[in-house]
Order: sequence, then C-alpha cells, then structure tokens
Amino acid sequence: MKIVIEDLSKQYKNGNLALTDVNLEIESGMFGLLGPNGAGKTTLMRILVTLMKPSTGSVKVDNLDLQRDRRQIRAMLGYLPQDFKFFQKLKTWEFLDYVASLAGITDSHKRKQEVDKMLESVGLYEARDRNANKLSGGMKRRLGIAQALIGDPKIVVVDEPTTGLDPEERIRFRNLLAEMSQRDIIIILSTHIVGDISSTCNNMALLNNGEVVFNQSPDKLIEKSKGHVWQIDAIDSELEIIKQKYPVIATIPSEKGWNVQVVADQLKDFPGKQIDPNLEHAYVYFVEYELGQSWNGQDD
Ligand code: ADP
Repeated sequence: MKIVIEDLSKQYKNGNLALTDVNLEIESGMFGLLGPNGAGKTTLMRILVTLMKPSTGSVKVDNLDLQRDRRQIRAMLGYLPQDFKFFQKLKTWEFLDYVASLAGITDSHKRKQEVDKMLESVGLYEARDRNANKLSGGMKRRLGIAQALIGDPKIVVVDEPTTGLDPEERIRFRNLLAEMSQRDIIIILSTHIVGDISSTCNNMALLNNGEVVFNQSPDKLIEKSKGHVWQIDAIDSELEIIKQKYPVIATIPSEKGWNVQVVADQLKDFPGKQIDPNLEHAYVYFVEYELGQSWNGQDD
C-alpha cells in the first residue's frame, strides 16, 4: 500500500498559507512527520483523514483518490487527534465498545472480543472498568490509540501523541507505536518532539513553514550532521560564552565542570572533540545550518 501526495497546498480562509506544494510518498511502516509548532502538520493530518479539503493538489491511496473515494478511504483509516476527548461518564471498555459499534461491528460477542483484545494490547485491561475521563494522561493516550486501531485500519494517523506525557509514559507510548509498526499498515506519526521519531521510522519528512524541507530516512538526516557535533570540556565561567556562540544540545556535569554538546560547522575559540550525532543533534544542525534558522530548543 502506498500514499502519494502531490502538489498539495492549503490556504485558510483568512489567507494563512499552511501548506505549500507538499509532495510525499508514504509506504507501509512508520512514517515520521516532524516540524516545529505552526509548521502545518495538523493541517496535513486533517486533510489525510478527510476532515478538511486541500486548496490544490491530490492525495492517492493506491488507486483510490481522497476526494473521489472518501468513503472507501475513511473505512481504511484510524485517527488519534491531538485534542482527543472522551464522552463523559463512559467506562474505558464502554467507550471502546461504542467505537466498535460505530466501526460497524454489530455482533455483541465479536465486539466484546475486539474490545478485550484492544484493552490487552494497550495495557488497559486492568483499567477497563474505570471511568475513561478519570484515566491518567498516558492511559488516555493509550486508549486513544486503541480506539484508532478498532476495525483493523490500514492507515493510522497519530497527531502529537506524546505531548504532555511524563518520560515513562512517553517511552511506553513509543514502544506501543513500535509494536504497531510491525503490522503491515501505514502509521503516520506527527510530532514536534524529535525523540518521538525513533529508529522505528523507516522514513520521515521535516515540515517547515508549510514546506517539506527534508524527506528521507532518519539515518540520512543523521549523516548530514556527521562531523558537526562537538563536545567541549568546559568550566563554569565558560558555559555562558559557549551558549552565546553555539546551539547547545546538552550540558552534562563532568569532573572539570561541564561536558557541553554543541553543533557547529567548525569549533572556534574552544577545544573540543567530535562526537557521533544522534537524531536530535542532526535536527538542530539541519535547522541551524541548512535552513539558517535559530533553533529555540522547543521540546514540549
Ligand atoms: P502544526 O500542527 O505543525 O502546529 P498547523 O497545521 O496547526 O501546524 O498550522 C499551520 C499554519 O496554519 C499556522 O500558521 C496556523 O496558524 C495556521 N492555521 C491552522 N489552523 C488554522 C485555521 N483554522 N485558520 C487559519 N489559520 C490556521
């Protein structure tokens, strides 16, 4: 299965240009859509799940067209929106049961089986009798993924799923997505948090001001920053000067004072050694040196 997005643009009624000439091909597995707030991710996700029409351009899913074959494509979709809300006063299992009926599972025995399977797979079976809106943030997000997976969707779209979660829940959610990506489906993960785009994403796109500025594997982004990530052994008084000169990615306490990790084409003024970049380093390097923008360290 393949999604082909061609020359897609979206201008809102007030004139805001949210997407400009977006071209992407998305195949089975996990696809990461990364970009700062305001980049156009939600707009693109909403178009993909048929909640909004593009101004120009087309989206094809194999030989189906998003505009022409909306109903067929809808039947293939699961969606976890950013502002996912529950109905008041439904127990966790009741909520999934309701979603399963909407998905057309009319046989109550089959529905129970499907609901139990989903509760197990997202680790909420023990919490099935709890009121859905009393669950913790992480549990709610996992319930969100369970509802998106009901009815065996072929395409699952997940918008900013880890925002606001504590580190433990964030890892748990990432693992859940990684497990899901083993199935033969397309998962589109939209996020502004670099750490969400893990090695389980076989492909990714970087969206900036409504344009795709990078579209390859995460490893290729890392490759671009090789030779440009440095570690400086610094004393207290040097820390501020380093921060003014270079984008700092990490500040780790050391014997001398600090190990400061920075991105730079060349290190001037401070001795340092090159280190192997990870995806976060690579993202900062790309934003600073290839896009020429100031990275502001936004994470949440
Ligand atoms: P992201 O999800 O990456 O944060 P969005 O798709 O929400 O980005 O927004 C992209 C751009 O479109 C932003 O400049 C935003 O202000 C604008 N935008 C989003 N929704 C609307 C809307 N309903 N009306 C007008 N402009 C909008």
